[in-house]
Amino acid sequence: MLKTALENIEFLIANSAKKASRDPSEIMLLAVSKEADEVLIEEAIDLGLRDFGENRIKEALRKKILFSRNDIRLHFIGHLQTNKVNDAVKFFELIHSVDSLRLIEAINETARKIGKIQNILVEVNTSGEISKYGLKPEELEDFLKSADNLEAIKIKGLMTMAPLEKDKEKTRPCFRLLRELFQKFKDLGAKNIDFKYLSMGMSQDFEIAIEEGSNIVRIGTALFKR
Ligand SMILES: *Cc1c(COP(=O)(O)O)cnc(C)c1O
Repeated sequence: MLKTALENIEFLIANSAKKASRDPSEIMLLAVSKEADEVLIEEAIDLGLRDFGENRIKEALRKKILFSRNDIRLHFIGHLQTNKVNDAVKFFELIHSVDSLRLIEAINETARKIGKIQNILVEVNTSGEISKYGLKPEELEDFLKSADNLEAIKIKGLMTMAPLEKDKEKTRPCFRLLRELFQKFKDLGAKNIDFKYLSMGMSQDFEIAIEEGSNIVRIGTALFKR
């Protein structure tokens, strides 16, 4: 049951927060609804969830329930192709997966045209796995400096995906690295930098991510899988 799964996750979030002497209310539970149908999503809304993550623009737009009320915040968490940027900017509150200058410039241009300031996170590949998207950690500084003139963008923080590990402890260095990058660049001084979010941790590893400072956990399977 969704209600039981949600209660369980909220309990674990609170537990990990406590372990790290953090306030659990500062941690956003992002419900990753990419595998959930509209019935399940409606149930999640009824249980009070308002932040939903999708990784495909077309599929997200097909789920009318996500557009049924104006207090729902949509997060784009998938790899974004430049030809989908228009819809991403039009419909999504926060784009978690910005990983190239070409993409951030395209987002800026679209946002400027429609008069929006688009919130984005920069995705960093903290594991070094070649199968993962994201900037290399050592590319981040140049990226932020090159993007500092984009006025229709607010860079709200960083996102990463840890590798799937049987031994969850092995994910910890990735999360720690992202937090260190966050600390290092939050005061870089660019006008469009407003670091607030560390988006890290999924069903498998959110507890460790919270211990390492995450304030957005992106949970799909643990919530919606029956
Ligand atoms: C699917 C997805 C998630 C959720 O993963 P679960 O393991 O199902 O919790 C989180 N982040 C991204 C980027 C995803 O694509």
